[in-house]
Amino acid sequence: MTAPSSPQSTSEDPERRQPTIELRDVHVVHRLRSGSLLHPDTVRAVDGVSVSVRRGEVLGIVGESGSGKSTLARVMTGLQPVTAGQVCFDGEPMGRGRVARKELGRKVSVVFQDPSTALNPRLAVRETLVDPLRVHGIGTESQRLSRVRELLHLVGLPQSALEVLPRQLSGGQRQRVAIARALALEPQIIVADEPTSALDVSVRAQVLNLLTDLKRELGLGLVFISHDISTVRFISDTIAVMNHGKVIEHGTVEQIFSEAEDEYTRSLLAAAPSLL
Ligand code: ADP
Ligand code: MG
Repeated sequence: MTAPSSPQSTSEDPERRQPTIELRDVHVVHRLRSGSLLHPDTVRAVDGVSVSVRRGEVLGIVGESGSGKSTLARVMTGLQPVTAGQVCFDGEPMGRGRVARKELGRKVSVVFQDPSTALNPRLAVRETLVDPLRVHGIGTESQRLSRVRELLHLVGLPQSALEVLPRQLSGGQRQRVAIARALALEPQIIVADEPTSALDVSVRAQVLNLLTDLKRELGLGLVFISHDISTVRFISDTIAVMNHGKVIEHGTVEQIFSEAEDEYTRSLLAAAPSLL
């Protein structure tokens, strides 16, 4: 635990810092096409979830497929409207308009599971990384190029990757490009939805280490989502366990691993092979 010393260190204490993203009793109901007007089929994908994440902190979200993790990730990135509840960014309720969304896109960015579908196959790495800077009108063309070079360096890719197409890269390298793009606008938080699940076991640990390094070096906040509890354990400070749209346990890694109270959490722990 950090001892209270100077006033500065108090304001730097992550516990005291305002959450960047805060969800309060969020519900998302998906309507299925199979329903009729009078009898709609609905799924409670997210069912009363309250979680928050700050800079410099990793929130792990774990649960079986279908437990609502990706829907929650979309809520956190402003892509998914909520049916009920409140979503706040930097203490302010999230705006709805296009400008608000674009602004949010600078603060919170996403990394998805499969980098081969997340990256445009026709764009060279340089273009992929310059694009968000152009869209947000950042810098001159030469300043953008130097930022792109810096991004490659941050994610451990050689400068020779600049002119390469996604298909010429390995899965792990492609995910590094996706991470570099997510970092382009210097976000406060990255939401990574199963970022290592599509990768070979051999490169998973490398990508996890990269994310951990970035958190430390850049003071990033990270929401790390996975169905695999051993991966989540490796990277997280706190863990939320999801089942059927609800957070059924929430605590520090030590709490979850030593005193998991819920039957479901215990079954996830018991089933976990070490995939690292
Ligand atoms: P997870 O990422 O944990 O696998 P999801 O958030 O993708 O969970 O899905 C949660 C539930 O919501 C599932 O039952 C899924 O079928 C349903 N669902 C997700 N997205 C949609 C959608 N766009 N329309 C309808 N149902 C959806
Ligand atoms: Mg998912």
